[in-house]
Amino acid sequence: MQVFPGVGVSPGRIIGSVRQMPKPVGEPAQGERLAESSTPDDASALLLTASKAVHAELKRRSEGAQGTGKAVLESTALMATDPLLIEGAVTLINAGTSAERAIWDSGASVAEMLHNLGGYMAERAADVLDVRARIVAELRGVPAPGIPHSDTPFILVGEDLAPADTATLDPSIVMGLVTSGGGPQSHTAIIARALGLPAVVAAVGVDELDDGTEVYVDGAAGTLTVGPGPAEVAAAEAWVALAATLAVFDGNGGTADGHPVPLLANVGGAADAVAAAEAGAQGVGLLRTEFCFLGRDTEPSVDEQVAAYRGVFDAFPGKKVVVRTLDAGADKPLPFVTDATEPNPALGVRGYRTDTSSPGVLERQLAAILAAAEFSAAEVWVMAPMIATAEEARRFAAQCAAAGLKTPGVMVEVPSAALTAEAILREVDFVSLGTNDLTQYAMAADRQLGPLAALNNPWQPAVLQLIRLTVVGARAEGHHTGQVKPVGVCGEAAADPALAVVLVGLGVSTLSMTARSLSAVHAVLSRVTLDQARELAQLALSASSATDARAAVRAHLPILEDLGL
Ligand code: PEP
Ligand code: MG
Repeated sequence: MQVFPGVGVSPGRIIGSVRQMPKPVGEPAQGERLAESSTPDDASALLLTASKAVHAELKRRSEGAQGTGKAVLESTALMATDPLLIEGAVTLINAGTSAERAIWDSGASVAEMLHNLGGYMAERAADVLDVRARIVAELRGVPAPGIPHSDTPFILVGEDLAPADTATLDPSIVMGLVTSGGGPQSHTAIIARALGLPAVVAAVGVDELDDGTEVYVDGAAGTLTVGPGPAEVAAAEAWVALAATLAVFDGNGGTADGHPVPLLANVGGAADAVAAAEAGAQGVGLLRTEFCFLGRDTEPSVDEQVAAYRGVFDAFPGKKVVVRTLDAGADKPLPFVTDATEPNPALGVRGYRTDTSSPGVLERQLAAILAAAEFSAAEVWVMAPMIATAEEARRFAAQCAAAGLKTPGVMVEVPSAALTAEAILREVDFVSLGTNDLTQYAMAADRQLGPLAALNNPWQPAVLQLIRLTVVGARAEGHHTGQVKPVGVCGEAAADPALAVVLVGLGVSTLSMTARSLSAVHAVLSRVTLDQARELAQLALSASSATDARAAVRAHLPILEDLGL
């Protein structure tokens, strides 16, 4: 049996057949001309046939879809034969341009025109670019870009997924995800966990597997096995039974000896919040507000923002909801605040830093948060992302106070913030450790890169030390006032049941994670006492590598293996 090792990022054991994610459609050469053997009429006819084929395929798919997905597919199907798009291309073909280059350029001008119109029309610009890529793929006779269409479930395999692809992922058809690239903290991994899909990243070579290959995926062990045997079949069947028992969380997180550890949810909007409340989340530890507005070219109005935030607050009456202000930049660009030409966006003007480059956006967001909070019964806290200094924390707290918002806090996701946690906590009421970025910055390893997955691991001794130092800083600050301010974790580390125990042992007060992980984290945490968690934290801290730390802790938690985690 051929085994492809990678990094497990979402547990689960499944058997299914492979479908490869088509490679992105490359841009035709600049100024590519018609072939000698072709006439403009022939090329235009080929283009029309291709655009009609794309239209028919999207129309067919829209018939099987429902709700928003159906509407999007229907309008995209119409775009494929849009007269402006096609006539623009035919004009270029008549001037001697190749069909592929002509549709590419015509698509670019239509997209730009829509973009300039603003509002709803601007949001259709991305659909034109999608349609253009589909037509080029059709002309080349290669598979259409995006997640392959299928009526039967499959395991999606590829290099990596773009955020736009993950948004269209249907978990009733895609059984699991395995990528040759991507890191454990990448958004592909985050989405897989949110959807409860077993997933493995950084499994080198899997993108060479043929479509239809029967494979076994173990999302906890981080492996893909070709040609599963009876042992793998039994493991996959056992997982189905286990998954059912794990699906319950009673809404009371804590250790076996009754030390409470509220288990909160990370959400990106109202739908997530409703699902999280149903899964027993004790509140929201991270509302990623940028997720409400990804794909937007323009700043959402205050009214739109109020509606989006209210959708989340209303799912948690009487409970804490931590709203993070826009964290645009790097892997989450938002054209109205970030600069796409920055050479090094992860270290660029992102997160709270955009308040200086785009003044007013934060002020309007804080006003919208306040308005939404006043309408709802949730206990609203606000925090800023990418804080690096105590001065920034002080400035943010002043902005919250000016806006009339209580309980300001900041993310600790830059190593400098962890090292100065005491000073930062003098300025704000709480901090939340963003272990995804904290790991990428501590290890200088881009969280999106598969080859750096081993470095990009929150079990790394340096990352555990930074978490410990943050708690030490909070305790030192609390020493002066007699009350220690909360230190939560809202990075993906909190969703790893073994690491969650270590985090509690290190002194973290709340854990926030994708709703799907609540039951697994609860199942493990509720079986250890606070003292045991502290011992396991010491064990992890004394290990000399991420692998050793994880193995040492897991060896003391046999429940993980029993639960297939
Ligand atoms: C983090 O960095 O850990 C975090 C929670 O923020 P995001 O993943 O949205 O960057
Ligand atoms: Mg972050």
